[in-house]
Amino acid sequence: MNRESPDQAALKRAGEILLSGGLVAFPTETVYGLGGNALDCAASRRIYAAKGRPSDNPLIVHIADLQDLPKIAAEIPEKAMLLAEAFWPGPLTMIFPRTDRVPLETTGGLQSVAVRFPSDLIAQELIRAGGGFVAAPSANTSGRPSPTTAEHVIADLSGKIEMILDGGPVGIGLESTIIDFTETIPTILRPGYISPAMLESILGEVRIDPGLLKEDSRIRPKAPGMKYRHYAPKADMAIIEGEPEAVTAYIRQQAEKDLAEGRIPGIIASEETLPQYKKGILRSAGSRADDETIAHNLYRILREFDDAEVDTIYSESFNTPRMGQAIMNRLLKAAGHHVINV
Ligand code: AMP
Ligand code: MG
Repeated sequence: MNRESPDQAALKRAGEILLSGGLVAFPTETVYGLGGNALDCAASRRIYAAKGRPSDNPLIVHIADLQDLPKIAAEIPEKAMLLAEAFWPGPLTMIFPRTDRVPLETTGGLQSVAVRFPSDLIAQELIRAGGGFVAAPSANTSGRPSPTTAEHVIADLSGKIEMILDGGPVGIGLESTIIDFTETIPTILRPGYISPAMLESILGEVRIDPGLLKEDSRIRPKAPGMKYRHYAPKADMAIIEGEPEAVTAYIRQQAEKDLAEGRIPGIIASEETLPQYKKGILRSAGSRADDETIAHNLYRILREFDDAEVDTIYSESFNTPRMGQAIMNRLLKAAGHHVINV
């Protein structure tokens, strides 16, 4: 389906499915979402069942009209409106106290609700056709990397949902930035395309949830979803950190050892370092000078490694200036925080 002028007949059918309690997967600018009517508790329960998602991991409610925000958010601080003006529609999710219209099934039992206004045109038109409030987590089986193409959605959810709208590959490739406005100081619960610097430029002070920065799993992250080992590939995965030459040498050596012992290694490199590797299944995430491309490619590469049935994955570290925090957050989760310093 064309992202700029979506197929109206398909959207009408998809809207009817949502209004009657069914599920529709659709593209957004971040990743593919699995949509259901957010105000219908039975639809939310179906989302959890289709994904195999733990029921305490809340769903993000997607809107397509700013006027709808007060219907689901009970208190909307001035600063949140400034962020909405700056970054909505776009890859930013804001958390507010919920109104009674939002069922607890949708919020994973919480008294707060996460809201996003996506910029993707197919997403917007689907939300309007489906009644204005669409609960949509990423359209993957829980524990697998988020889907960045319709093919990824089909691989995970085929037969479990009523419809998939195929808009081709998504633009950003990592989930939205989440900021919590139920805290005194607005707090980033999940890093994404909208960086801390972009948020600070509007808000002044922003906190980063301590659960995000520490490897210490005893610090419970505020966003319930962050405690789960998301995006986990089937292979054992490690992130290798250190001086660039030491990193490539270590990965080369490990890959050789794996092959000698009958294991298939997968390597996540960058354009700059790819020529240094010869053995194993090699993937460049992109150039270190272009971290938006690295973000875009990450989940696809993790899925390709699953398909290739690699036994081990070695990834370089990507502490790039703009999206490095978001990229490393996903990589660390994929690796279960297994970091090797060389
Ligand atoms: P997903 O839609 O799969 O990208 O996951 C949505 C994420 O948003 C989860 O990790 C949740 O933890 C987070 N989230 C959604 N609603 C809330 C909320 N009310 N409070 C805190 N985090 C939330
Ligand atoms: Mg998800």
